Amino acid sequence: MLKGKKVLITGGAGFLGSHLIDRLLSEGASVLAIDDLSTGRRANLKKALTCTSFELVKSDANDGKNLESVFKRFRPDYAIHYAAVVGVKRTQERPLTVLADLDGISSFFALAKKYHVKKVAFASSSEVYGEPIKMPNREDDPLNPKTTYGVVKAVGEEFVKVYSDLGLAGTALRFFNVYGPRQDASNEGFVVGRFIQQVLAGKPPTVFGDGRQTRDFIYVDDNVEAVLRSLVSPRTNGEVINIVRGKPCTIEQLAERVITAFGKKMKPKYVAPRIAGEIRYRHADGSKMKKLIGFTPKIEFADGLRRTIQWHREK
Ligand code: UDP
Repeated sequence: MLKGKKVLITGGAGFLGSHLIDRLLSEGASVLAIDDLSTGRRANLKKALTCTSFELVKSDANDGKNLESVFKRFRPDYAIHYAAVVGVKRTQERPLTVLADLDGISSFFALAKKYHVKKVAFASSSEVYGEPIKMPNREDDPLNPKTTYGVVKAVGEEFVKVYSDLGLAGTALRFFNVYGPRQDASNEGFVVGRFIQQVLAGKPPTVFGDGRQTRDFIYVDDNVEAVLRSLVSPRTNGEVINIVRGKPCTIEQLAERVITAFGKKMKPKYVAPRIAGEIRYRHADGSKMKKLIGFTPKIEFADGLRRTIQWHREK
């Protein structure tokens, strides 16, 4: 699909960006990643860094001058914008830092147009739905973001549409909860890795609140496949697409699944909610994704959990 093509990825040292890079390199693309390594990690690119068709530029993608220098030198065929402040705790504690990501978004689109990129993809998020007005979440539902992170992602989606009208092909991908190897499992991190780390340490998973909140989890390899297909398909031009399995589970069920995957007998530990007003329900409709890119996620939860646990054990 992308053999011989040049692909620029902002935020390429993060969880999602690094998996996409491994896949692109295996397909024979040349990749340049720009990442300030604030949350991204060089270790995520261990394999990529051994490859001559890969380059990592340690720099802040929100700085327009830095970003322009890589567009100008690399002249990408495709560009994907992942760079963002991530993590629920971090984004809630630093809303103004999150707003600075708007600078990166506006430079990214302007430069992609200036340097004649064939197509861009923008990593959006289920956070744009906030607390959903309707379920399952469909792309044309009214948005209801509750955080600056969600607002910034919604603005990014608008850039896709506006620039599409200006002749820059692009697509906005609404990622629902992705999990897998390399995802941050620290205190600032995400639930699947947190639960795995806790059980590995012989402790019960800590469920925030009553555990009845739902999330729609997708394994990282399925996410990467959907991103690649969306990037190359002309059918996604100017479109916003949910990238999702469409099979929500409660956080309580997730805790039980993780315990079962370890073959342990313990009960989750219920603790106070993480923050007031946390999003309760996530459940997406994946039919637009299926229609436009002909893809349905393949990796069942049990298999994805097994692979993720394996990675945590080896780490
Ligand atoms: N969660 C939990 N225990 C943890 C971490 C998270 O119960 O140790 C819950 C959290 O309250 C939320 C869900 O798991 O309802 C997903 O949290 P995460 O931070 O992974 O992503 P979010 O979907 O909230 O962005």
